[in-house]
Amino acid sequence: MNNEKTTRICIPVCEKDLSAFESASERAAEAADFVELRLDCLDSVNATPEDITQLLKTIPRPVILTFRPSEQGGHRDLTREERLSFWNIPPRGDAVWWDVEGDLVQSLSPEWARVILSHHDFSGVPTDLDQIYEKLAHTPARVLKIAVQANDVVDCLPVFKLLDRAYTEGREIIAIAMGNAGVATRILGPSRGAFLTYGPLDDEGATAPGQVNAHKLRSLYNIDKIDEETIVCGLVGLPVMHSVSPHIHNTAFASEGVNGVYVPFEVRDVKAFLKRMVHPRTRELDWNLRGLSITAPHKQSVMQCLDWIEPDAKEIGAVNTVVVEQDRLLGSNTDAAGLIDPLLRIMGSLAQRKVAIIGAGGAARAAIWALQQQKATVTLFARNPAKTDSLAQLFGISCEPLSAASFAGYDLVINATPLGSGVHIDESPATQVQLSGAGCVYDLIYNPIDTRLLREAREAGCETVGGLEMLVAQAKIQFKLWTGKEFDLKATDLHEFIRI
Ligand code: NAP
Repeated sequence: MNNEKTTRICIPVCEKDLSAFESASERAAEAADFVELRLDCLDSVNATPEDITQLLKTIPRPVILTFRPSEQGGHRDLTREERLSFWNIPPRGDAVWWDVEGDLVQSLSPEWARVILSHHDFSGVPTDLDQIYEKLAHTPARVLKIAVQANDVVDCLPVFKLLDRAYTEGREIIAIAMGNAGVATRILGPSRGAFLTYGPLDDEGATAPGQVNAHKLRSLYNIDKIDEETIVCGLVGLPVMHSVSPHIHNTAFASEGVNGVYVPFEVRDVKAFLKRMVHPRTRELDWNLRGLSITAPHKQSVMQCLDWIEPDAKEIGAVNTVVVEQDRLLGSNTDAAGLIDPLLRIMGSLAQRKVAIIGAGGAARAAIWALQQQKATVTLFARNPAKTDSLAQLFGISCEPLSAASFAGYDLVINATPLGSGVHIDESPATQVQLSGAGCVYDLIYNPIDTRLLREAREAGCETVGGLEMLVAQAKIQFKLWTGKEFDLKATDLHEFIRI
């Protein structure tokens, strides 16, 4: 039995005909340590075992053959007889492995040294996960594979525990939590002893939920460099997979020579996550977790789970950064300073400047607080009068309805609403006419880079600033809190990673 930790990426190939399989396998072999041929993707049984044996000879990498029925996550309706007859005389080659589902094990006598014995659960994490492992481990199969569906990030815990158990017992295992909430198991799995991790050639080629493509595993998450010493940081939110923060922090780890990785954590129940996976006094996972970025919808709810909160973050009423320091969790807010940073560069002093903030949510709160620290004069514009009034009263500023706003005479107009992104992509909180006579327009939205508001502002002759400037500036402060280091990155360096 093997007891070493090696990072291997397996690229699954799922095509409808043999010639497509051939070309896709060729591309996969360039980036993969293993290539998985998902033979259940073939349209029908239009390839003979000889054809497949021939195909195997063309792939210069170890190959895993998979012939999965639809009820176990495969792409074809296959009877038990069809599966048995396939696996009774499976295609062979020098470095060929067979991924056989556990339900066939009693009826086959394969060459166990080539078998990956697999169990899938697409509904959740079964309560008898350990018994499933024990049943598979009772066979002489070389590698065990258990893939379960994660519905929240804490569902990664039993999977990490399984990896630890198999490692201790000297069993080779592939254990995966599928879905976006399980991405951490795909990125950190090999460093915790997983035999391999699956990553398609591109996002479209994913064969199971939550797979991160092989290029990102290598170049974004630097998976080959992750080991037991690696500092883990991550983004906590819902959703998180769209975020460019992994590009910022993983680039920073690489450029500063820090052995660290920044992982997206899709979190529904933030209290459970902090208790079971994060807090050094209560967590059930032994890992080198150093810090977290907190995004919507957890910036306020996370505050009740921390041991200490910086006074500024308390005043703002939101935490976007957690530092794990010895056995304590420390909270702070880098949004406020990140928001101001590009303004100071562009406008110099903000003292006595007339600023309009549009929106009355979390970002608006941080903006008001930060601008008051700079002695700017702030007016709040938002759609909900009750919410606007109470926020304005809290900070002692004036407010006006958004509908009839005119921003002439304002030195700065800040958009702190989602208008211009997502489902509101074609909308703008202000028109060119409303913006005429304003100085600078700052859209906190960073995806897309060029929003409708920024276009209207340019037409109105205003200077403009996009939200990536803030994202990068606040991330730099986070990185320093976690590592003590500074890094150099420009907002424009991230443009290629922005996908609408
Ligand atoms: P939030 O807490 O949900 O607040 C959103 C605000 O926008 C609320 O006041 C909401 O009004 C208002 N709003 C929503 N839809 C609207 C509409 N159709 N018309 C007018 N007002 C509308 O969100 P947040 O955390 O403050 O974030 C706001 C924006 O800032 C987001 O786009 C976010 O991506 C961006 N942001 C960027 C950064 C960065 O680093 N660049 C950091 C933080 C936030 P109601 O209260 O009436 O619902």
